[in-house]
Amino acid sequence: MHSGAGKKRRRRYGGLPNTEGYPRRVSPGGIFRGEVGNREWHILRLRALRRWQQVTPGMGDLIKAARNGEWGPLLRAAALTPGKHWAENSRCSGQDPELFTPLSDGPREDPDEVRHFQGITLNRPLNFCASCPLAVAARCLVESLRLDDEYGIRAGLLASERSALRGAWKRRIDAEAVSAVLRGVPTVLNEAEREEVISRFASDPILNATRVAWGLGIPRKYLWQLVREHNQSSQSTPSAAA
Ligand code: SF4
Repeated sequence: MHSGAGKKRRRRYGGLPNTEGYPRRVSPGGIFRGEVGNREWHILRLRALRRWQQVTPGMGDLIKAARNGEWGPLLRAAALTPGKHWAENSRCSGQDPELFTPLSDGPREDPDEVRHFQGITLNRPLNFCASCPLAVAARCLVESLRLDDEYGIRAGLLASERSALRGAWKRRIDAEAVSAVLRGVPTVLNEAEREEVISRFASDPILNATRVAWGLGIPRKYLWQLVREHNQSSQSTPSAAA
């Protein structure tokens, strides 16, 4: 049975009991319950837990590097799971996709709020991601960025947590990746990098068409079509401006 004081506390804090009178407890991040309100305590605790968050070992470093603009480590890890059927080796293979699409999560949401409201329902999908092989999780994240997946959990990241990464992915031109494709090494590219490859190939007659087509993963015929389109658009741009 609840006491009158307890009811007052619950009213004051939007239906949740205040932390006053609770045993002093400490979160993994070293935050003491009792120093802040209950809701703030949960949000701070979630932030602290995120540092501990179970992601595939090594994946945290790849994500951190990508957030700092170093995409090479993530792309190299993703390249270790080549081919179209990479998802067959994923831990979520055969699982209900809805499990990985939490309600209320989206590109414009606050990840802390989403985690607060979803609570333990996120444990199951995140545990699947945490046990996914590193190369598969890396490929999963790269594919989600390449396809610009706005919703759903990928590689242990909520949709709301991938927003900034998606924006950075669209803007980046990785010189190493462009150069690899021009040498005929199959590499996952974003749209800006793909255009850079076509532009470099169109202006450099020394580059080998078979190699570039192989690096892009497209037939030679289609490569030449892209070059023609590129040349037409670059010829039409000055006249449009004039
Ligand atoms: S990392 Fe990607 S492929 Fe692996 S379980 Fe999570 S969502 Fe599935």
